[in-house]
Amino acid sequence: MKVTKAEIVISAVQPEQYPTLQVPEVALIGRSNVGKSSFINTLIHRKNLARTSSQPGKTQTLNFYLINEMMHFVDLPGYGYAKVSKSKREEWGNMIETYLTTREQLRTVFHVIDLRHPPSKNDILMYEWLCHFDIPHEVIATKQDKLPKTHVPRHAKVIREELGMPKGKHPILFSSETGLGKEEVWKVIYSACDI
Ligand code: GDP
Repeated sequence: MKVTKAEIVISAVQPEQYPTLQVPEVALIGRSNVGKSSFINTLIHRKNLARTSSQPGKTQTLNFYLINEMMHFVDLPGYGYAKVSKSKREEWGNMIETYLTTREQLRTVFHVIDLRHPPSKNDILMYEWLCHFDIPHEVIATKQDKLPKTHVPRHAKVIREELGMPKGKHPILFSSETGLGKEEVWKVIYSACDI
């Protein structure tokens, strides 16, 4: 898609703050610092619309971005940041669960995982949770550029196997540095959002 307009609409912490505009939504979930903001910026060809940071665990809000006035990207707060207190983690769980299980215009979730490492316990729990609640999702294996090319297939296989992805499904290889995977992701969005 040629993105001509992209803007942050709101950083929400509760459903009352979700935008009321009826457009299809795709959400991003993953470990904090895995590259969710970079993923959005790469897809929309912006350097810095979605806030990227090298300090994990900062964003504890749902950030809604309106794209071409026809769809939202929703950047969900990252999980698995060790320094977060138990009560904050619970808050996080409630926020994510409420959004993912009640938002009617949600079309699909991009579950972003670091291709360099086997999925963490939290990655696996998140994957199983999305499957359990029957929420449409795709696994994005990002930071592909950080691996030697010859290692990529082996790492992708580990992700597939450890998550227990069904036959015929595979993680979409992605890199915010090179733009690898961008077209494949847009195809998923077109199909999920009917645009
Ligand atoms: P978020 O917390 O999930 O939104 O993660 P960010 O998008 O802020 O990314 C965290 C860090 O990883 C930043 O320093 C990014 O520049 C870096 N990063 C994200 N994606 C990639 C990628 O595909 N390749 C490389 N080399 N670095 C990446």
